[in-house]
Amino acid sequence: MILLNLQGHDFHYEAENIVRVFYPDEQIRVVYDEPPQGRLTSRMEKSGNIFCLTAQWDGETQTDTLPADVPDLAARQELMMATTLYRLLSKRTGYVPAWGILTGVRPSKLMHTLTREMGDEGAQRYFRDTLLVRENKTALAAAVARQEAPILASSSRDSYSLYLSIPFCPSRCSYCSFVSHSITGSGAKKLIDPYVGLLCRELQQTGEIAASLGLRLESVYIGGGTPSILSAAQLRQVCSAVADSFPLPTAREFTVEAGRPDTIDADKLRALRDAGVTRISINPQTLNDDVLTHIGRRHTAQQMLDAFRLAREIGFDNINTDLIAGLETDTPASFHRTLEGILALEPENITIHTLALKRSARMVTEDKAAATGGMAVAQMLEDGQHLCTAGGYVPYYMYRQTRSVGNFENVGWCRPGYEGLYNIFMMEECHTVLACGAGAVTKLRDPDSTHLERIFNFKYPYEYISRFDELTARKARIKEFYQEYIIKTTPQRK
Ligand code: SF4
Repeated sequence: MILLNLQGHDFHYEAENIVRVFYPDEQIRVVYDEPPQGRLTSRMEKSGNIFCLTAQWDGETQTDTLPADVPDLAARQELMMATTLYRLLSKRTGYVPAWGILTGVRPSKLMHTLTREMGDEGAQRYFRDTLLVRENKTALAAAVARQEAPILASSSRDSYSLYLSIPFCPSRCSYCSFVSHSITGSGAKKLIDPYVGLLCRELQQTGEIAASLGLRLESVYIGGGTPSILSAAQLRQVCSAVADSFPLPTAREFTVEAGRPDTIDADKLRALRDAGVTRISINPQTLNDDVLTHIGRRHTAQQMLDAFRLAREIGFDNINTDLIAGLETDTPASFHRTLEGILALEPENITIHTLALKRSARMVTEDKAAATGGMAVAQMLEDGQHLCTAGGYVPYYMYRQTRSVGNFENVGWCRPGYEGLYNIFMMEECHTVLACGAGAVTKLRDPDSTHLERIFNFKYPYEYISRFDELTARKARIKEFYQEYIIKTTPQRK
């Protein structure tokens, strides 16, 4: 355990994040104003008109100073605290994180904000010189921000997107930390039918609210879990509820995360196509069968290739494939073969995630398996960037997760013109997302500020089913929010 000793400040959240970048597997306990011996200490002292920030551990020290009369003093102090801690830990471990001190912030979102304030060059300089982000990651964040800009500009004050959650999967992947129920050998399968019925009711109620507020639907995303675990009839039922309750013709995108190839068949794909789904995701994570077995996915690479070809035959012309860099037993060479196999399919989108090991993942709690190391993941991501770029793909959205191997990023690549709109809207939080189903989180966005309010649905399907009526009360907040934040500043709205 690392004792993180803070003296003279309480930037504990940022300090913990920085330490976690260097020591992802250690427990960190924050203590205050204890003697520095044996503790990683971050101290802030004022002497005259100068603040002095010191990071210290086992005789090693890193110091910096800040005039007390600078504007945004608290933000500058926090930044300097992070920098001194980062430099100390980098010197001690020999590790130079690719994203510098940038933790807990979406890089492209920050790049948008900085670009507005400082222009392209200034924003990139700030990334490199102040946040200590490497050149190649700075360029990646800038490229994503450029690709997103026109799509974000197309979102208007009354725009919203719709998210539906299907929190069931055929089996549980070893790295999974989502609230998703494996239907293997459990009572979860019996929950699916009542769950779908109530989801359709929630869609109807939510659609009525959106209509009463005169909102404009931009995109629909059915995620999970594995939505294609539903039967073709259930998929039709859910998609009909969407079409009956929401103005689908205004939506520019309707995505269904089909997910696991072993749940996909022609009937289901036809049901989705007939319902007006424009984009699907078929997610192999890897095309290495041994790795698939290790991570608990009960399908083969061939099943993925077959599902992809079937989807093309049935008429899907916008398909995403998800990959993960850093899976247990995977190697850069095997990841390279996966990338080549995926590129040969010519999907419109390729999303390359970095493995993130949350505490609830089976891989952490039971298997104690070691993810492929940070160096190997760096190589995989660089390879991915190189091959995707050479294949004519551009990076269009990105995010980072805590506890990702090597503290790296997740990037969506697309053929130009095939950007996954929902991904951008959701990640950049540019408009409201109304969410239905267990574990779904509605995000209400005030277009005139950065204010964002969340409404949480019940996390687990059994709670969702047994306490469904309470959701109606929670969702009443949507109308109140629009009255408070939006309608008052939109005179043309009736
Ligand atoms: S398919 Fe996704 S949601 Fe389902 S168990 Fe695997 S990682 Fe979790």
